[in-house]
Amino acid sequence: MPQLVIPRAADVDGLPVKRVLPRRERRCVGPFCFLDEMGPVTLAAGEGMDVRPHPHIGLATLTYLLSGELVHRDSLGCTQTIVPGDVNWMTAGRGVTHSERTGDAARAREFVMHGVQAWVALPPESEDAEPAFRHQEAASLPVVEVDGVSLRVLVGEAFGAESPVPVHTPLFYVDAVWSAPGEVVLDAALGERALWPLAGACRVGGEVREPGALVVLDDGEPATVAAEAGARVLLLGGARREAPLHMHWNYVASSVERIEAAKARWAADGFPRVVGDDGPRAVDPRA
Ligand code: MN
Repeated sequence: MPQLVIPRAADVDGLPVKRVLPRRERRCVGPFCFLDEMGPVTLAAGEGMDVRPHPHIGLATLTYLLSGELVHRDSLGCTQTIVPGDVNWMTAGRGVTHSERTGDAARAREFVMHGVQAWVALPPESEDAEPAFRHQEAASLPVVEVDGVSLRVLVGEAFGAESPVPVHTPLFYVDAVWSAPGEVVLDAALGERALWPLAGACRVGGEVREPGALVVLDDGEPATVAAEAGARVLLLGGARREAPLHMHWNYVASSVERIEAAKARWAADGFPRVVGDDGPRAVDPRA
């Protein structure tokens, strides 16, 4: 039977989120070790999201918006406005810092903030990689049409298409939108697989699945996901992580020593600064 993972309520610098991964009953799906649905929340004129400058190691962050707008700034000197449909992919490698804030124009009016933030663990051989940033506009991502379902391949490879975003391990992350009743098959060869329904119900293995729970499929068996027009589901997963996985705050590593080194480095202000964001930096609440 598929495993159902129920998110917990959390907040990121004041913005309400559903923390889907990690949970006690499920730490990761393929290399995906963190998944937050931000909002949806209506922000009044003058309000915005402000994720202060903070560090990462050992992972790639993936910001994907469904509504609203964010400005990404990082220690590599990249400044990028993110709009719905874009893939914002930052590989932390040995260490990077970034901030994500509502821009001035968006902050001046009421808007709905809704998005998904995912972290993908890097394999041990890439933990010391140079940090890198990749922004992929929505129109540049491959879309596969299957049986009334529009499958946008955000990162990785699935349904015979491959995203141009560079990855370090086999994975897939697909935004599936039903414009007519239809079904898609998630091949067992994709590895560990999960679905996160965003809108509308879908049916998997004869069971109806509504938004609110992550559905982790059984390994080794093909799965059919069926839904009606209007449904939207994120499909994600990939090769199972075999290496040890340690997480603390914004850090992912194959060893406790790497985590401890990152904690000491942030405490000593040893990470590079976010270019163009001199605001107060985040504090590790569990340091
Ligand atoms: Mn971050």
